[in-house]
Amino acid sequence: GPAGFTTRTRPAATTTPGSLPAVVGAGLVVPTVSGPTTYANLDHAASTPALVTVKEAVDRALETYASVHRGAGYASRLTSAWYEQARTEVADFVGARSDDAVVFTRTTTDSWALLAAALRHDATVVVFASEHHSTLLPWGDDRTVRLPVPHTVAEARDRLADALTARPDGQRLVVITAASNVTGEVWPIEDFARLAHAHGARIAVDAAQLSAHRRIDLAAWEVDYVAFSGHKTYAPFGTGVLAGRSDWLDGGDPYLRGGGATRAVAESGVTWSTGSARHEGGSPNVIGAIALAAACATIAANRAAIEAHETQLLARLREGLRSIDGVEELSIFNESNDRVGVVAFTVRGFDSSLVSQVLSVEHGVGVRDGRFCAHLLVDELLSGSTEHGTAVRASIGLGSTAEGVDRLIGALRELVEAGP
Ligand code: PLP
Repeated sequence: GPAGFTTRTRPAATTTPGSLPAVVGAGLVVPTVSGPTTYANLDHAASTPALVTVKEAVDRALETYASVHRGAGYASRLTSAWYEQARTEVADFVGARSDDAVVFTRTTTDSWALLAAALRHDATVVVFASEHHSTLLPWGDDRTVRLPVPHTVAEARDRLADALTARPDGQRLVVITAASNVTGEVWPIEDFARLAHAHGARIAVDAAQLSAHRRIDLAAWEVDYVAFSGHKTYAPFGTGVLAGRSDWLDGGDPYLRGGGATRAVAESGVTWSTGSARHEGGSPNVIGAIALAAACATIAANRAAIEAHETQLLARLREGLRSIDGVEELSIFNESNDRVGVVAFTVRGFDSSLVSQVLSVEHGVGVRDGRFCAHLLVDELLSGSTEHGTAVRASIGLGSTAEGVDRLIGALRELVEAGP
């Protein structure tokens, strides 16, 4: 920190390492047609509830905060130190290399917009049609090579190799989602990173559906960029992350031009900052960064318990779904594959929006229905099906319980037995 200033370390969040972290709002009572019941949260792929440790960190930070990097006042210096400490904690969380940039953004969508703006105009970006729209669309039609939804990992690898061979020159980026927001299927990211690098390209990984559930490790995976969102990682809305190689980021135009992003401004011209500051013009969301860092620390300290909880509930959910006639789970790959706790399914003869309404209004079960901002993928997975082009998605997290999963299964069974 600044000379003569003793950094007061931000108080560590109270958490018992190795235990299942508590979320805010657990046991929420919601109205249903047959009376109040506890909310069964099976919608973590959309957004996650905040952790209790996150709420505590936000409460503490709000007591002494001021604007960062703007003044010599005690609160401003303390807030600046905490903001940079949050960046260090997030860097640890993603396994960043020492020279990687860690930029705070608003969302995963925002992170990709930033990276897209930093790429050269003649860059090539290779993506699969199975991506979330936020990861499929930001690169621009002229730069994007879109590959069809693959049916096996081997097919994905072959198509990617062909695409990179066909475009051997210039700045090239492969963008892949670590875990699908529709099917929960986990892609073998290290394999794709090796493949991209063997062709002289870089790889960016969308970890929006991974960050709350599995470790992210940029250095070990040899991945160049990663993005994720606070609101899917047990922190509030408004904070996302883009982390990775600083050369392309320093070579691109500043994402938010303004105060804080400059080294010097004179009549003769502007010298822009490098590193994270280059893209974080304006007063940053310090409280959001502190909240996200607290979430990251709690998740990292309790990883085994979180994974055990989710593995158990996912198995219970999938077994239950398989036991109901006419319920069909969606998969990208024709082979069994590692999954996070996200399952999309159709119910024969029922419109997905009706199913999700019945679950919510009659049983207090929160799920999502539709095409999940992945229209090309859901269209492909439901092509040839008699269903209405949409699916229901149940997704597991720290706010989910075995009772909630059982309630979902019981409600679906009742619905199917009553008939469309
Ligand atoms: N990528 C994936 C896989 C997602 O699931 C989502 C959100 O649903 C996003 C990107 C976009 O995240 P955000 O809305 O936080 O920008």
